[in-house]
Amino acid sequence: MNPVAVTYVSWLVATSIAMSIIASYAAFSFAERVASSKGMRSIAWLSGGAVAMGLGIWSMHYLGMLAVQLPVEVVYYVPTVILSLGLAVLASAVVLALVSREQMGWPQLVIGSVLMGAGIGGMHYVGMAAMRSSAMHHYSLPIVALSVLVAVAFSAVALWISFYVRNNPAQREWLRLAGAVLMGSGIAAMHYTAMAAVTYFPGNMTYNLRHTVHVTALGVAGVALTTGLVLLASLVAAFLDKKKYQALQASLDELKTLSTQDGLTGVFNRRYFDETFGNEWKRAARTKRSIALLVVDVDCFKMLNDRYGHTAGDECLRKIAHTLVEEIRRPGDFVARYGGEEFAVVLPGAKVEGALKVAEAMRMAVLDLKIPNEDSVAYEFVTLSIGVCSTHPNSGSSSMEMLEAADAALYLAKARGRNCSQLAGDLIPKVLQMGGGVA
Ligand code: GH3
Ligand code: MG
Ligand code: MG
Repeated sequence: MNPVAVTYVSWLVATSIAMSIIASYAAFSFAERVASSKGMRSIAWLSGGAVAMGLGIWSMHYLGMLAVQLPVEVVYYVPTVILSLGLAVLASAVVLALVSREQMGWPQLVIGSVLMGAGIGGMHYVGMAAMRSSAMHHYSLPIVALSVLVAVAFSAVALWISFYVRNNPAQREWLRLAGAVLMGSGIAAMHYTAMAAVTYFPGNMTYNLRHTVHVTALGVAGVALTTGLVLLASLVAAFLDKKKYQALQASLDELKTLSTQDGLTGVFNRRYFDETFGNEWKRAARTKRSIALLVVDVDCFKMLNDRYGHTAGDECLRKIAHTLVEEIRRPGDFVARYGGEEFAVVLPGAKVEGALKVAEAMRMAVLDLKIPNEDSVAYEFVTLSIGVCSTHPNSGSSSMEMLEAADAALYLAKARGRNCSQLAGDLIPKVLQMGGGVA
């Protein structure tokens, strides 16, 4: 009796191999997360990986069967088809659990590969047992054995790579791809070797059509499921990466806040002031707007420290900082601790009147705190002296000059008896020359 001629549709063969590689890639991505997570999460990753791997093997098989052209009608018995899928998923689960352990030695690798090979082989032959057709088939045992050996060998290399991936984050993408290509090819190699082990003879076997489907339906289901699963895997991975990214961003923000914040008072620190004041000054020059700077110094603070103690001094600085912040209104305004008991207030866009108004409001608000400073030469409570400067920056001047002008105004406020605001423009002609903004 002559065997039935078997031909293959090459694009379907190619698709079956591609599906198998893609599913392996998804499975490996899942498996990597099994090791790095705990409890239910780890179990969820393991299940995802096992389903991906199992579906990959399964859909590869039925796509491979779709690629076979037999001159007789072939249908598949659904319960056995489902059993074959279950077998593939189960074997994958055991293997992924094995290779996702902390350490993997030779015993795990050997057991894992044999199990994986057996799973792939078992799936294949159970899948073949689901076949119903009028033809009879005959197996060549040596080739069957070879097919299982092929599956075990490919699995061994792929599993070794998948384990190696975890410990080499730098080459992770390439290694995972290499592992997936090997695993996927291994599954396909097993399948097509096994197909070479079978010879069909024409026959007149009768079979029951109950609970059977055509192989096309299975092939399409395989492609759809695998594609869906891979999409799901990438969505989940993207979601997790996003969460990781957000966590990273949050800690970066926190770090940024810390690096720009004054530890004692919580207002911006000197570093932030230097950077931001320079930028605001340039922006004002570009947009031809005014900018104001207040240099605020606590009067006779040394006496407060000496009399009430350093801790009371710290508490006083905190209260003052808080009060200054409450007096600023516009989005670009900010308060920074410039030095020990000295604060700088930047008011972008503010003109002389506005700047003086803010300075006086700050001075009055601190007075209202009524923090005792009995040894002060200025008053019985804590007072402020404030140097005020407002200007229209231009290319002929610099932010440093503005700071010096405000400082000089502060010095004059101290000379005038403290507890007052002093405008730089009144007494510092240089500021008037800078841009005439203080007129
Ligand atoms: P003036 O009215 O001329 O500004 O007199 P002053 O005493 O405020 O000025 P001086 O610069 O002589 O003294 C500032 C004091 O501020 C000296 C320092 O011990 C104190 N100081 C600086 N930083 C801190 C701080 O973080 N906490 C406390 N408690 N004191 C500080
Ligand atoms: Mg002082
Ligand atoms: Mg000072």
